Amino acid sequence: MQVILAQPRGFCAGVVRAIEIVDRALVKYGAPVFVRHEIVHNKHVVDSLRRKGADFTESLDGIPAGAVTIFSAHGVPASVEADAVARQLRVIDATCPLVAKIHHQGRQYAASGRRVILIGHAGHPEVVGTLGQIPGDVILVQNEAEARTLDLAADTALAYVTQTTLSVDDTRAIIATLHRRFSNLIGPDTRDICYATQSRQSAVRELAKRVDVLLVVGATNSSNSNRLREIGAESGIPSYLLADGSELDPAWVLGARVLGVTAGASAPESTVEDVLAALRRLGPVELSTMEGREEYAEFRLPALLADPTPPASLPPPHDGARQAEHPAAPQTTQQLQPQQLQLED
Ligand code: SF4
Repeated sequence: MQVILAQPRGFCAGVVRAIEIVDRALVKYGAPVFVRHEIVHNKHVVDSLRRKGADFTESLDGIPAGAVTIFSAHGVPASVEADAVARQLRVIDATCPLVAKIHHQGRQYAASGRRVILIGHAGHPEVVGTLGQIPGDVILVQNEAEARTLDLAADTALAYVTQTTLSVDDTRAIIATLHRRFSNLIGPDTRDICYATQSRQSAVRELAKRVDVLLVVGATNSSNSNRLREIGAESGIPSYLLADGSELDPAWVLGARVLGVTAGASAPESTVEDVLAALRRLGPVELSTMEGREEYAEFRLPALLADPTPPASLPPPHDGARQAEHPAAPQTTQQLQPQQLQLED
């Protein structure tokens, strides 16, 4: 069977940074460190960090006062930050800088007197966090139908921001509908969207033209992994989401001449290897990687973790200041447009 790997696929810079933050915090401050929500949506990553001493929790309730606590890459509402201050937790914020940038843009729009629309999926932790970071009555729009039926005057001063796991392609029709209906609507530059979401989706669209079946390695609760599978299905090929090789159903690939494999932004390459191993157990595999964009983006770690050696004392209790909003500018390479990853203060 011929197998083509998507390029790019798998870990993005925000996920690498979030995992590194937990790893370094464990080395520097010792176990346990508490992590609010799964640091990224992947069981293999979470289990591996748990074995090292990370304690994952959905609520701050059970975390003892003064404990080192990490906010996940998805971000948190301002109410959770305030709760952490009240509990005197020592917070390290692993919110992806691109998510923090959306929060910042939303706050700026609200401060300028605009009603903010968030384009995203209800209940996703990033959306919950963003809704809770922007003051005022933020309107969630999930699809074109909701954009068409928004009950607002046509000249309302509006601004939109988007969930990072939606690409330009995903949001284009919704934004066009909003522009048709509302005369005073602004939004961020398209260069502000998450480079990783767009590039993984573009790669899958290209890959889908060449394969009979698509396998997407990622977790069922990973929004971007689900979207990759949907893009495969929209392209007209059978597309399946699987966490690792143990979930491969031989019937999916039976009779497939060329198989495409990609991975969501939170899926480690080891899980792709595991799926390839499962395929090889079914028969010989002729493996290749599609030509595609190499990624070299890196997001710098919070300053207090730059030095990985154990400290003389713990980080100070959270004072409510946002750590993720002022990271040093991520390092980029010529493969990515520099403006794409510049962060505003
Ligand atoms: S997918 Fe984009 S926004 Fe989400 S963690 Fe990765 S780089 Fe950040």
